[in-house]
Amino acid sequence: MINYLSFFIIGAAIGSFLNVISLRYKPGKKLFSEDVIAGRSHCPHCRKILKWYELVPVFSFIIQKGKCRHCKHKLSWQYPLIETLSGLIFIFIPISLGVPIFAPQSIIWILIFFIFILISLIDFRHYIIPDQLNFSLAILGLFLISIKEKTRTFGMFEGSFLGHYSGLFGLRDNIWINHFFAALLGMIFFGLIIILSRGRAMGWGDFKLVGPLGFIFGWPDILMIVFLSFIIGSVFVAPLLIKGVKKMKDVVPFGPFLIIASSLTFFFGYQIINSYFSLFGV
Ligand SMILES: [Zn+2]
Repeated sequence: MINYLSFFIIGAAIGSFLNVISLRYKPGKKLFSEDVIAGRSHCPHCRKILKWYELVPVFSFIIQKGKCRHCKHKLSWQYPLIETLSGLIFIFIPISLGVPIFAPQSIIWILIFFIFILISLIDFRHYIIPDQLNFSLAILGLFLISIKEKTRTFGMFEGSFLGHYSGLFGLRDNIWINHFFAALLGMIFFGLIIILSRGRAMGWGDFKLVGPLGFIFGWPDILMIVFLSFIIGSVFVAPLLIKGVKKMKDVVPFGPFLIIASSLTFFFGYQIINSYFSLFGV
């Protein structure tokens, strides 16, 4: 119990750092530059520099009732939300993988999920996904594949979040071919949609994101991710279209939908495909 609490606190502290990066980032700026990462935190409204006790993840927000102590300006719900989410990532990723938190797979997946959060926040705010983040995902994918190859956790019925169902989709002789194929397939599919819709359905940032996702998750997991992202996308966008808040030509960032779909596949991939197949009595 005490372990979980300390993991949560570490995760939440990283989450508050992710908040800062996403808020200071501006398109065209280097993501990991000094003025994005360094510098002390201040209230976005009155710009007063915050003391350490105003920066305790989640707790400061609750104690200050979501307001700045100095100017009483309301603070964004993004702060406690992302901090809580990051804390939970630290606890639930090792549990879901069934390995200790300090196992290489755990650490890589935790890093992947932190990048997921950054991508969602930045894409949601600026309609852009920094290349550095997509590139970092690809590098983490490389590590992940090497580990899976070394630990022999890839095979006919393993090495996929879809469990034994992965065997139905083939391509399970070689992990590298499998993961490269998944990346290529995702990029071809998204590339076609972008070209055919003339960039109205999604942008090249999404194209550059789906490649690393395919590389990380492999085949057939990428199939579920793409499928789910379109379902989630239409669930979110349909009410906006009906209410007339957005017109189809308005940009809706697709990155967060891909990220939610990837997270669902990571945590519930097997349950999702299992209930899909039992729906048809297979
Ligand atoms: Zn203030």
